[in-house]
Amino acid sequence: MPTAIEYFKLLPKTNCKDCGQPTCLAFAMQLANQKAKIEDCPHVESSAKDSIAEAAAPPVKTITVGTGNSKIPMGGETVLYRHERRFINPTAYALTISDELGEDEIAKRVEYVKSISFDRIGMIFKADMVSVRNDSKDPAKFKTAVQNVMKTWTQPFVLESDDPEAVKEALTISKSRVPLVYGATPENFDVMLNIAKENKVPLGIKVSSLDEAVTFTEKAKASGYDEIILDLGAKGIKDILEQHTIARRAAIKKKFKPLGYPLMNRTGSGEYAVMTAVISTLKYGSLVIFDDLKNYEALPLFTLRQNIYTDPQVPIQVKQDVYPIGNPDEHSPIMFTTNFSLTYFTVRADIEKSKVPVWLQIVNTDGLSVLTAFAAGKFDADHIKAAFDESGVLSKSDGPVIVPGLVSKISGKLEEAIGRKVIVGTTESKNIPKHLRQMSI
Ligand code: SF4
Repeated sequence: MPTAIEYFKLLPKTNCKDCGQPTCLAFAMQLANQKAKIEDCPHVESSAKDSIAEAAAPPVKTITVGTGNSKIPMGGETVLYRHERRFINPTAYALTISDELGEDEIAKRVEYVKSISFDRIGMIFKADMVSVRNDSKDPAKFKTAVQNVMKTWTQPFVLESDDPEAVKEALTISKSRVPLVYGATPENFDVMLNIAKENKVPLGIKVSSLDEAVTFTEKAKASGYDEIILDLGAKGIKDILEQHTIARRAAIKKKFKPLGYPLMNRTGSGEYAVMTAVISTLKYGSLVIFDDLKNYEALPLFTLRQNIYTDPQVPIQVKQDVYPIGNPDEHSPIMFTTNFSLTYFTVRADIEKSKVPVWLQIVNTDGLSVLTAFAAGKFDADHIKAAFDESGVLSKSDGPVIVPGLVSKISGKLEEAIGRKVIVGTTESKNIPKHLRQMSI
């Protein structure tokens, strides 16, 4: 990304303030921090606008597969390390569907792919895509299989074939869903690129080296259509580590645009395939296509992806709201805690263990835990009352309001604020079950 000074050089330098900033330099700093858009300055010349747009484009091009709410953006990354800035677009995982399967078998396969889904700390992890593979080598069969997949699969998908005729046929019924065509090779590149360009769909190119990748991305760029995802032809996990790292370093550190495209891998099934996906996920892969993936293999992989693609500087949070646990009624206790996910899930699990129904109010503390939020002034009587008012939890139950033991000193002020008697709970979450059971005797 350009620096503030680089932006400043392209601005009119009149300090007219029309952009809402006191000076052009201040505006340049906002641009560099991605807090303003160049359109906010009405006086910048169009040539300068183009230079800025070019300079501000991410060093790894964003390529989108699919449409509407389910579309999957790939690439668009600006940094090598996630502590510099959050990685943006998580690795997508796809499972293969052979075009040799019949309609019923395809329906079953799609159901299986959909069943790879987990709820972890309030987030749903799932398989993202399917890849319809032209194993039959028959364009008509391929088209029928794509048609059958589209009946039950509404998420993005891949058309996997190196036969231009098969791809053309399949796109006649699927191009509106913007699938990824994965099958360009050095041998069929020109014709596949034309098909992708005519149908406005992204193209996956399989090459066998970084040099070859450069040759074909430059060709695509020169043709005016470079919606490209690169399979660098890695032979194993060592290759993926090396090639992806070299490509991404070249794109980001050297601003070498021919390697600034999302990267993908095709793999098989079983533990080595999962290891391949792990390396690809850790090292800049945007898409991994599996022959097959089991639930028990997907869980650790999806968890890894979640860790890589969350912002290390922002704690994982749950939404401020009231969460009923175990069918609470109008006399059930009201408990509350912060919106730091780990705190929420720990407290929730301990309430569930007690088998006592509870209204659990979550208070937005920007993801801070109880004591840290209290010290930061985000978990005091006023914030808690505001959360109670917003959710209306006090009108749902006349049961006791339980203050976390760690912040027992807010009890008095909270009583005054909400006009209800409160009691002090346990200092440790693990003691919640015993406390709730004793209260309910
Ligand atoms: S509107 Fe443009 S010219 Fe005016 S102060 Fe802002 S950046 Fe400078």
